[in-house]
Amino acid sequence: MIDIKTFVEGPIDANNYLVTDVDSKEAVLIDCSSSRLEFLTEIKNSQAKLKYILLTHGHFDHILGVDSFKNEFGVDTYISKDDLSQVNLAPQMLQMFAGLMPVEIKGINKFIEDGAELKIGETIIKAIATPGHTKGGMCYLIDGKLFSGDTLFQGSIGRCDLPEGNLNSIASSIKEKLFTLPENTEVFPGHGDKTSIGYEKKFNEIVNY
Ligand SMILES: [Zn+2]
Repeated sequence: MIDIKTFVEGPIDANNYLVTDVDSKEAVLIDCSSSRLEFLTEIKNSQAKLKYILLTHGHFDHILGVDSFKNEFGVDTYISKDDLSQVNLAPQMLQMFAGLMPVEIKGINKFIEDGAELKIGETIIKAIATPGHTKGGMCYLIDGKLFSGDTLFQGSIGRCDLPEGNLNSIASSIKEKLFTLPENTEVFPGHGDKTSIGYEKKFNEIVNY
């Protein structure tokens, strides 16, 4: 069994999810969008033993806190190799989209591939590559819950007009990979409210694309 805590953080209100295996208390942080002290402290003071940071993609609004968290917790931080280009673009994007000082993110030290599995306690985390919003977009399936980053939102999909975005790719990622998951799979996106695969198969804008 897992416990999920949501933290909405950073310049573009990204969802960060602290997912804890209830038995072992081992936890993973999915996305790390801010180095705000209260965010860090809350995780530090929780019962969770943070084991990894997993990034859904390399856009600045999902990775801004990586270096601070890495310093504090010393945990491995994973991203798809295909999104290193996005990490390198992040300082520039940060300035352009959020008007903030360009900051380089250096704490990402591991790559994760499609189909790879990690564990928190006995709970398996499965990586599902979903290119489209970015080339290296990853979703993570944990105990029947999907963490969908900026690939799938409630009612909509991630934008494809940024560098390396591709509408055809996101359409196949969603229809051929995510929509084959059981309909009762709960979906926790990178922004906004949670949803389910069944709901999105009926109402998502991608259905008619
Ligand atoms: Zn994004």
